Amino acid sequence: MKQQSLIFEITQKCAGNCVYCYNVWKNNVPYPERKLSTRKIRRLLQKVIKEVNANLVTLTGGEPLIRKNLEKIVKFLKNLHVGVNIITNATLLNEKRIKKLVSQFPNQVEYKEFLSYTHMSQIYEKIDILVSTNIYGNRTLPVIETMSAKILVVVFDVLDTKRSIINKKTSFLIPPFHIKKFIQKLKLLIENPKLREKMGEEAKNLS
Ligand code: SF4
Repeated sequence: MKQQSLIFEITQKCAGNCVYCYNVWKNNVPYPERKLSTRKIRRLLQKVIKEVNANLVTLTGGEPLIRKNLEKIVKFLKNLHVGVNIITNATLLNEKRIKKLVSQFPNQVEYKEFLSYTHMSQIYEKIDILVSTNIYGNRTLPVIETMSAKILVVVFDVLDTKRSIINKKTSFLIPPFHIKKFIQKLKLLIENPKLREKMGEEAKNLS
């Protein structure tokens, strides 16, 4: 069946501050703060899904989880028999909300709770590159742990990040806010498995 996909910005609000964010409210312009009620969202979604014959709806924002009743909208969509994607920065994803989502999507969402280092190692085996757009520092446990598992990282060169990474040797350090460079390096790694392997060895040795 052909995929008819609908992307729905369910809110423009977000507590994040990503450098690459295109959301208009970030530019300090007057912007209407009003939000649609859940009832209106349901009506709107139902109408558009029918008109465009969509079978997949992606809920995005802003940050969709900022809507406290997002799960109700997801449930509504499920009852309309359309697939649902949620694009989220996950900062509002606490245990209660994860469990709610797992109960709604038992086949798509898996909640692993606490993971021992052995389990984490199994997950690391399935990862090639760690991308962090953190602008407050990247000398973090996930960065160090993944590098010790030979996984390369692409991160902004902020604060003391360079104490954990030798640029171009063990991973890539990108000057803050250089999005174009960030994407170039990411693309380079995605397209060069041999380079990933070589740099991965160096990353392991350093960490
Ligand atoms: S999480 Fe998304 S909406 Fe929020 S600031 Fe970052 S890019 Fe913008």
